[in-house]
Amino acid sequence: MAKKQFKTESKRILDLMINSIYTHKEIFLREIISNASDAIDKLCYRSLTDETVGMTREDFRIRIDVDKDARTLTVSDNGIGMTREELEANLGVIASSGTRAFRDTLSGGENADEVDVIGQFGVGFYSAFMVSDKVTVITRAFGAEEGYRWESSGADGYTVTPCEKDTVGTDVIMHLKPDTDGEDYSGYLESWQLKELIKKYSDYIRWPIHMTVERREWDEKGGEDGKGAYNTVEEDQVVNTMVPIWQRPKAEVSDDDCKAYYKEHFRDTADPVGVIRVNAEGLTSYKAMLFIPAKAPYDYYTREYQPGLQLYSAGVMIMDKCADLLPDCFRFVRGVVDSPDLSLNISRELLQHDRQLKVIAANLEKKIQAELTRLKDSDRDHYLTFYEAFAPQLKYGVVGDFGMHKDQLKDLLLFYSVKQEKLISLAEYVEAMPEGQEKLYYACAETTKRAAALPQAETVKAAGYDMLCLTDDVDNFVMQMLGSYNEKPFCNVTSDDLGLESEEEKKDTEQKEEEYRGLLDFVKESLPGLVESVRLSHKLKTQPVFLTTEGEVTLEMEKYFQNLPGVPEADNIKAKRVLELNAEHPAFAALKKAYEEDKPRAARLSMVLLAQAELIAGIPLDDPAAYTELVCGLF
Ligand code: ADP
Repeated sequence: MAKKQFKTESKRILDLMINSIYTHKEIFLREIISNASDAIDKLCYRSLTDETVGMTREDFRIRIDVDKDARTLTVSDNGIGMTREELEANLGVIASSGTRAFRDTLSGGENADEVDVIGQFGVGFYSAFMVSDKVTVITRAFGAEEGYRWESSGADGYTVTPCEKDTVGTDVIMHLKPDTDGEDYSGYLESWQLKELIKKYSDYIRWPIHMTVERREWDEKGGEDGKGAYNTVEEDQVVNTMVPIWQRPKAEVSDDDCKAYYKEHFRDTADPVGVIRVNAEGLTSYKAMLFIPAKAPYDYYTREYQPGLQLYSAGVMIMDKCADLLPDCFRFVRGVVDSPDLSLNISRELLQHDRQLKVIAANLEKKIQAELTRLKDSDRDHYLTFYEAFAPQLKYGVVGDFGMHKDQLKDLLLFYSVKQEKLISLAEYVEAMPEGQEKLYYACAETTKRAAALPQAETVKAAGYDMLCLTDDVDNFVMQMLGSYNEKPFCNVTSDDLGLESEEEKKDTEQKEEEYRGLLDFVKESLPGLVESVRLSHKLKTQPVFLTTEGEVTLEMEKYFQNLPGVPEADNIKAKRVLELNAEHPAFAALKKAYEEDKPRAARLSMVLLAQAELIAGIPLDDPAAYTELVCGLF
């Protein structure tokens, strides 16, 4: 029979895997057992609403069998099974939803990244090939009349054929590789070693894992001389304790246990920065174990990412990703919620409106908030790790839903402080404010260095005040949404009044503006449609010009919208530009002279000054060639 080929991506992964990116080959057993457990979860859930399943909770089990002569290790379950189509879809391609990302990473090509990405998908079923040279899957789906046999010897492809199977469920038969110098595959045929592996990785699996275990028993009359000897007796044992980690008393479970569970269960390679354990009793009782990840999954900031917590009721998994348990701004949190109180016999749709679920969600939100605050206040290094991965999420949380969550989130934000040269919170900024400082100053730019080098930053610094540098696209919206902190208004140094000019300075500027009215109007006319107004400024210390804006739209917003792909209207979102000139600068003197003696030259100088201002503000020139010509024309 013709072999079917694996999808290309799967083939690459299989190769990678067989060539052992995993140093711990033994994890294959955990993967196969966890698939069996998931399959049972599905059928058990089904049995709650579908009588034709004909099974109760007590009937479900996983079995491990070995055949030393045939060198096979078999993991069987009486779960939901797979139809022919499911066999093809699930085992013919690795993690199909992730294949595109896979392709991207593989073609991007650093080896280290590949391993990382694989870790996130979970190689699952394919890990069987790390220890087997052939894998046979015999399965019958719930509701199907016949079974199917899938078989593959690795990267060269697989076959699927109909076969006999009396009961619903799946047997995964692994034909172990021959032993080599470095690897003792035969060990996976020893019941004591298998038992150890199950204890180590799969103890919390909620379904009993049965295995025939050999035990030595003293027989008083045994032996050839009848004086007694050890007999080997075989007995069927359940080798796992079946108590899920979140159900065990806090004192019994160490932080390391929780972290290990997180990494295995949620397929992360990094320890979480925070673990939250909740044991709530009362009107709605539940247990929860939540994790705050250290890094964002590869697809976190895409539509593909599905947030949510795993929801169990009395040991039965009802939902893998219950999004209603998490507020959107904390959608990075992973974890498990188990409540015996949830009414089980209702459909998933109805469950989403369950009042109890709302109560749990509201409590968890408070716990997450508290844990993040604790990390920020007393474990800043871990918080910084978290913040690097999820700051955009918190910021989108501030601006989303019309700012509904801004008060809740504002104290979790950190921004780069020019004075302290590190990320600080708004509270820390305010705390360090000298007497008399009325505003919280910030500047937006591509990098903190650029922000700190803005001419207005000099003015703020000269006043002895700190300035926050904002480098994320969303930051500017965050500040507009917050408006103020502790009743002190935010001040964007490039668009708002710094409030640092004395009355005298203001008067002086006004006077000068009157004096140079003709020149300023001329500059504006020389830049038709390009600037809203032309002014003199006190803010500028060493620079000749600067661009600021009037009105709601700032330069950062304009840039942000223009970078949005596929939004043609975005071109109409323009900041109203104000060209500010430094009357003390030699450039101004040259402009004034030209205005008096050579108007065309003054017009050219105006254009050069605008281009200079745009460059300082980080706006690329529309036409660099024309600009060069313009400058050269002045010589
Ligand atoms: P993952 O478990 O991460 O989805 P796997 O490669 O381990 O990836 O498995 C792929 C899919 O194959 C599973 O999602 C499941 O649908 C199906 N599958 C694997 N093992 C079993 C099993 N024992 N019973 C039923 N379905 C299974």
